[in-house]
Amino acid sequence: MISTAVVQVDFHVDLDINKDRCIGCGICVDVCPSNIWFLDENKKAYPREDYEQDCFICHACAVSCPVGAIVVREEVWERE
Ligand code: SF4
Ligand code: SF4
Repeated sequence: MISTAVVQVDFHVDLDINKDRCIGCGICVDVCPSNIWFLDENKKAYPREDYEQDCFICHACAVSCPVGAIVVREEVWERE
């Protein structure tokens, strides 16, 4: 007999953007599957305010940024 356990987790994610490094290429805007990134009037990337509810923590934005301007910090824990 196979038994399976379902573990429920909570998570928290922080998206940090170093605007001094950002060159406004728009790659993060294009690669994010949740349409979280936008460019402001100065061509600097910023995440929308409600990103935490939609971010998959896939890290695509961070690994695709050519200048390393984005850091994705995640914290995952099992639900009590
Ligand atoms: S980690 Fe993934 S889902 Fe989250 S902002 Fe970056 S590209 Fe989008
Ligand atoms: S991929 Fe990096 S450099 Fe390009 S717009 Fe996004 S944060 Fe800026």
